Amino acid sequence: MSGRESLPTGVDLLHDPLHNHGTAFTERERDAYKLRGLLPPRVLTQEQQVLRSLENFRKKPNDLEKYIYLIGLEDRNETLFYRVVMSHLEEMMPIIYTPTVGKACQEYAHIFRRPRGLYISANDRGCIKELVANWPHDDVEVIVVTDGERILGLGDQGANGMGIPVGKLSLYTACAGINPAKTLPITLDVGTENQRLLDDPIYIGLPQRRLRGAEYDALVDEFMTAVTERYPNVMVQFEDFANLNAFRLLHKYRNAYCTFNDDIQGTASVTLAGIYSALRLTGGKLGEQKLLFLGAGEAGIGIADLIVSAMMDEGLTEAEARLRCWFVDSRGLVESTRTDLAEHKLHYAHEFAPQPDLLAAVNALQPTAIIGVSGRGQMFTQPIVAAMAQLNKRPIVFALSNPTSNSECTAEEAYTWSDGRAIFASGSPFDPVEFNSQRFVPGQGNNSYIFPGVGLGVVAVKARHVPDEMFMAAARTLARLVTEEDLAKGRIYPSLTRIREVSAAIGTAVAEVAYQQGLARVPRPNNLPAYIESQMYQPVYK
Ligand code: NAD
Repeated sequence: MSGRESLPTGVDLLHDPLHNHGTAFTERERDAYKLRGLLPPRVLTQEQQVLRSLENFRKKPNDLEKYIYLIGLEDRNETLFYRVVMSHLEEMMPIIYTPTVGKACQEYAHIFRRPRGLYISANDRGCIKELVANWPHDDVEVIVVTDGERILGLGDQGANGMGIPVGKLSLYTACAGINPAKTLPITLDVGTENQRLLDDPIYIGLPQRRLRGAEYDALVDEFMTAVTERYPNVMVQFEDFANLNAFRLLHKYRNAYCTFNDDIQGTASVTLAGIYSALRLTGGKLGEQKLLFLGAGEAGIGIADLIVSAMMDEGLTEAEARLRCWFVDSRGLVESTRTDLAEHKLHYAHEFAPQPDLLAAVNALQPTAIIGVSGRGQMFTQPIVAAMAQLNKRPIVFALSNPTSNSECTAEEAYTWSDGRAIFASGSPFDPVEFNSQRFVPGQGNNSYIFPGVGLGVVAVKARHVPDEMFMAAARTLARLVTEEDLAKGRIYPSLTRIREVSAAIGTAVAEVAYQQGLARVPRPNNLPAYIESQMYQPVYK
């Protein structure tokens, strides 16, 4: 065990999740740390502990119980938790993150056992610095923060939204080896508009309406100042803020701090990667595509903005690039005669005749790709997919809305309605599909391909900011890692089992951007990929 002098001993050590090894403490450690008699006598290996954990996990009757079990394990022994999660990532990811984490947030007050992370509430205005000083670790590198207003597709969950930063940071560690001791989940409890929570006698947050306007902005400003004062190199990731604040805060802070918004920029990057992979199948260039989005929210606008940057990288002007991205929202085509458009949609309100719905817009605009980010299921109907297949030899059809029930169409529908020609990706996973005696493996445009690797690169070189070029580099790297065998099955993302390799490669590409742009605060190592890999946490007892 390392860092012996600062470690607690005896029962305190067994209650310290970062250093506890439980029944795997060796005979020597049991002597050294005054553990004799406090543990059953047999020393188990970590492999044996993993077996026990898996047995317990799999015995749980439903996913929420599995979530509660895993969080309990994380609270007892973080090393073992990460060993279990990392060695069974495909089985565990839907439990520690979507979709189960959504259910967990809805029930957070009712399944609450031990606090995890930092709660900063509207009542803490004026003393957030003192509150941040209470966090026991001096070297925080990644913060994920939410104000709980738009948790996944579940709306306002108030302080119950804490499940999201907790889960997301678990993925930073599991997928990219960010040291869990250097992560900090934070919830800004500014109240809630969710009446169910306001009426719940055991709700954990402030039972009051949300702060808005100047008071809200002052709280977020104070939070950013406080965390960056204590942790000058920290990266702050914003997560699950409502539209009205997400875009605003991103633009306000992106050049002042090391920060990004995953709902906007991470989603954009993983989708751009999917398009780059799709282009390996269709043979076209990005700048030749015409993309039609269904849904003009954080995901849709974020994706389009990054695509515009990537097209400009190919030589298009900004105006030319924007003209290649079109939106349909709940009121039809976003175009220049509309008077009801929110600010973030205005860049994409091109001159064009009004179109009432997606089918009309597909026929009128003849896009090469349709991208569903509306949060509404069954919106890519048979006539729409068939029209795309008539217009394109290989139509790009991305149904990114979550959860599965909100997917704009299923994988089977996309392949069947396009006669097996659609290049399909989804937000939620779909099983492989047999069609015309061919087996298609749909890709999942999971943000976990991107944000952990971006975080790894940023943290490793202590980057000052997280510019769009990092997300473009991440997208290119991810697309490059898709194999010819993957593509032959229609799969445009690598297998999740390769996530550590993917994150290391993205981390390297992101660090490279930091050096190119003069944003890095550590000298350039001789061998950047080896340096990045050396920074990755491994869940082994030390
Ligand atoms: P959001 O609330 O910011 O945006 C949703 C947009 O869809 C809004 O502009 C809304 O007006 C529009 N909309 C609603 N009903 C519509 C309709 N009937 N027709 C057309 N447009 C409609 O949400 P978001 O963050 O942009 O997320 C949207 C969806 O994308 C969610 O389901 C989310 O789960 C999914 N998503 C997927 C990924 C991924 O696959 N990696 C990442 C992020 C978000």
